[in-house]
Amino acid sequence: MTHTDKHQQLKDLPGVDHLLERIKNDDRFFEIPRKVILESIRFILESIRQDILRGDKTDIIDKDIIEKTIEAAREKIKNRLVPVINATGVVLHTNLGRALLCEDAIKNIQTISQSYSNLELNLVTGKRGIRYTAVEELICELTGAQSAIAVNNNAGAVLLTLNTLAKDTQVVVSRGELVEIGGSFRIPDIMSKSGCHLKEVGTTNRTHLRDYEQAVTDQTGLFLKVHTSNYKIEGFTASVGLGELSELGRKKNIPVMEDLGSGTLIDFSAYGLPAEPLVSDSISSGADVVTFSGDKLLGGPQSGIIIGKKETIDQIKANPLTRALRIDKLTLGALEATLKLYRDEKRAVREIPTLRMLTMSHDQTCKKAAALQIQIKKRIDTQARVLLADLESRPGGGSFPELRLPTQCVTISPENMSVAKLERGLRLSSPAIIGRIEGDRYIIDPRTIQTGQEEIISKTLEKILLKK
Ligand SMILES: *Cc1c(COP(=O)(O)O)cnc(C)c1O
Repeated sequence: MTHTDKHQQLKDLPGVDHLLERIKNDDRFFEIPRKVILESIRFILESIRQDILRGDKTDIIDKDIIEKTIEAAREKIKNRLVPVINATGVVLHTNLGRALLCEDAIKNIQTISQSYSNLELNLVTGKRGIRYTAVEELICELTGAQSAIAVNNNAGAVLLTLNTLAKDTQVVVSRGELVEIGGSFRIPDIMSKSGCHLKEVGTTNRTHLRDYEQAVTDQTGLFLKVHTSNYKIEGFTASVGLGELSELGRKKNIPVMEDLGSGTLIDFSAYGLPAEPLVSDSISSGADVVTFSGDKLLGGPQSGIIIGKKETIDQIKANPLTRALRIDKLTLGALEATLKLYRDEKRAVREIPTLRMLTMSHDQTCKKAAALQIQIKKRIDTQARVLLADLESRPGGGSFPELRLPTQCVTISPENMSVAKLERGLRLSSPAIIGRIEGDRYIIDPRTIQTGQEEIISKTLEKILLKK
């Protein structure tokens, strides 16, 4: 292309006003803000201009530009945070938003957000109230603690508790418990950000009570135990129980804290799962303060719960940092509704999605897998082998280290497409479907698939495999 050709093509490009005028009458632009349309037109015109300058032949047709503008504008107004279908079987998947909320929590979020509330007004006295009141009594009732407060998340709860109880002092922790959770939360880092000095004791595999005892100096401010949520040391090991440590703490007049990470309000061993630490056990062991997450095994909204002796929680409530980590009203509403279900354990297991999915039996997964297989086979014929396979799901979210739950999955082996391409297709569809690849099979685990999603999965598979 000669210089004059390029020049001519650039001159031939339609103007923004001209395009805007044409678009005005197109129904498809009706809902799109004018600002977005303008930006999209400019973006498309600029990319055509670049094509021309590079010497790529471009036919300039208004209609094509308008189509491209629609595409660009739609892309621009799309939500970035969107629902996805979790076919991984990982119940508490941090990348997929951890716990799903129960119906009551969702309803309460709506109720609280549509109306003014008594968030910080005491309706009895007419005076200023305290936001934590909404959940404090309930948490105490369910855990046996004297006092409680809920904050933004458990990392915040740990930071706040350390900062309140042990700033500028030494915090004694076993070397076996200096864990990292999900990359950005590491006990030594959170310790220094809280203004505390870490005093490591024991070894990676073995720590004894005398290690804690010998570490005590007049600088010691706290004994900390951390639940090693996501890993397990096996073999020649020893650790000190919370009860023993609390006794030592009382003797030496040093407060004892436990970061439970997940923590549960129901005994999972009654459902054939390994026992995870019960929050109430930590309290009865005599700890001064215990922290745990709201959106791990509890199955509620993102939050961090701090419970313990009244005197200790009062100190935490008075820390100015509490204001920076405070829980918002929607979360508070969701947390209250979730916690209320725990007054009736059967109901909690039925209605809290996390508990329902974790306690789902192998038989139940078989039923769900068989139904899904039938749905998929109705739509897909020779394009893929659709089989059932007994595999394992993982709880995820730093709970139940090592645990695998027996589950039956649907496996898809495409005939004319790589399994990687199928995975990509499902991930980029709307809603996105996230499963996993094992060898030449795409695995769909029914444990984490919600009611009504089976049809979306089978339709999407049909679309991708039959290239509809
Ligand atoms: C998950 C976890 C945390 C962090 O909790 P978030 O709610 O994710 O902030 C802290 N400590 C332990 C032991 C954990 O397992």
